Amino acid sequence: MTTVASASHESLYLAALSVGSRAMMQADNWADGVDRLLAEIGRATGASRVWVFQLLELQPQAVLQDYVFEWAAAPAYRQLMQRRFRFFRSGLEDPVYRRLVEERRDGGCHDLCVSDMADGPLRRHLESQDILSMATVPIMVHGEWWGTLGIDDCRRAISWKGPGLDLLIATAELIAAAIYRHRLTSRSRQVELFQRVANCGVWEVALTNGHVWCSEALKAQLGYPATYPRVPLRRMLARLWREDRHQLWQQVRACLAGRQSHCRLDVRMPLYAGGTGWFEIVAEIQRDEAGRPLSMAGILIDIHRRKRDEERSRRAAESDALTGALNRRGLMRWLEAHARRESVHLMLLDIDHFKAVNDRYGHAAGDALLCQLSRRLHGELREDDALVRLGGEEFALLIRSGDGERMLALAERLRGAVVDRPFRLQLPGAPEPVTVAVSISLGVARMPPGTTDLETRQALALVWADEALYAAKQAGRNRTRRHASVTGAGNGALGSCATER
Ligand code: GH3
Ligand code: MG
Ligand code: MG
Repeated sequence: MTTVASASHESLYLAALSVGSRAMMQADNWADGVDRLLAEIGRATGASRVWVFQLLELQPQAVLQDYVFEWAAAPAYRQLMQRRFRFFRSGLEDPVYRRLVEERRDGGCHDLCVSDMADGPLRRHLESQDILSMATVPIMVHGEWWGTLGIDDCRRAISWKGPGLDLLIATAELIAAAIYRHRLTSRSRQVELFQRVANCGVWEVALTNGHVWCSEALKAQLGYPATYPRVPLRRMLARLWREDRHQLWQQVRACLAGRQSHCRLDVRMPLYAGGTGWFEIVAEIQRDEAGRPLSMAGILIDIHRRKRDEERSRRAAESDALTGALNRRGLMRWLEAHARRESVHLMLLDIDHFKAVNDRYGHAAGDALLCQLSRRLHGELREDDALVRLGGEEFALLIRSGDGERMLALAERLRGAVVDRPFRLQLPGAPEPVTVAVSISLGVARMPPGTTDLETRQALALVWADEALYAAKQAGRNRTRRHASVTGAGNGALGSCATER
């Protein structure tokens, strides 16, 4: 038996490794790279065949493998396409073969010269393939036996020990690195795809040095150009809506203290192009073995569609279908939002003799009048005041102000806006719209101040405003009356209602 390597072989081997590894790095597909690497190794060593088996399953009595790569020095040496090498099963009854497999599993290399082997199934198997000498090296990916790299010589009975085996070991490691790289690339592609499909992005903040990492999908989600080096995540968190930021830090503190396993919160975040978007933040703390927090990582999910739909259904549930004004549920929510800390006045408004409009022009015309009236009143109010249709032709106005004088002036302005400008109603089948003049009566009350029990406060304010409205009707309609809760009203002409105390 001769040893194949000499000094000139070694430089050949090095050149083969160098060309092969460059081919691996440059290949579009990792499998093409492996083919080229095997070819370089085959040519440099003068072997008959270089091959890779992938391990499919190691069973107690057999090993299942697949023949996945091959370089052959001549067509006669080709085996890859042979049926007996597709997903083939090798029994482990032969103790020589069993030991070989167990050693491979643990990273062991082998160098076999067939003529030196004791007679047995393994030797006969190799002889059946005309192999005179061979060497095998396991391909270990992340510490696991992934497969085997082998080299067969059908013309020379040589020992591969030394540089030949070292070459194979380096080749197996290059292949293992390529497999590992391929896995990581596929995984990051899957993660990016998942993020695109799920409309979310991934981020991580190292708690030790403050370094921030964001996925490409997250960048796109926030509207940052792809060329932007990195998303200023911390600045963005600092610019969250105040109440969102407050809640988020509360949750983060609870996570850091171990009171909570993770954070989950809907927040409004600034976008690159301006404005804000709705996102759901889900985050977790990563800790070291001692339990010290290392980083905070999570996902940001774009939920603007969900929020828009929620907002639409909320608006639909809180408004009156005919006029678009708020309904009683909307009234309660408006009060929840504004009446806890601010002074609020409530006006009740009722159309005078509305029944007569219906009787004369029909119910549809009455409906049209209600819609026009609602729009007209809206036009007189500020954005954050509210118009509520309590039912029929009765409306409530909620005004954020503690100034009674101003409220009475507003009530009079509204009354004028109705009585001074008759409505134009298109009746079915009529060539021209008819002009219908109506007036309204108004009762004004101030919501009793306080921080709790909104229900009672609004019920009281409604009763008071209703008393004032009743007084206005009693006094002849088309007028405003105030309840005694409306302060600073020295205007006797308006009068106050009978229940003033
Ligand atoms: P007052 O000055 O005392 O308020 O007289 P009024 O006729 O307005 O009062 P009343 O409460 O007796 O009648 C209210 C009428 O409003 C009765 C009904 O025909 C009408 N109405 C209630 N809801 C609707 C509605 O949704 N559409 C129309 N077209 N009419 C309605
Ligand atoms: Mg009425
Ligand atoms: Mg009424």
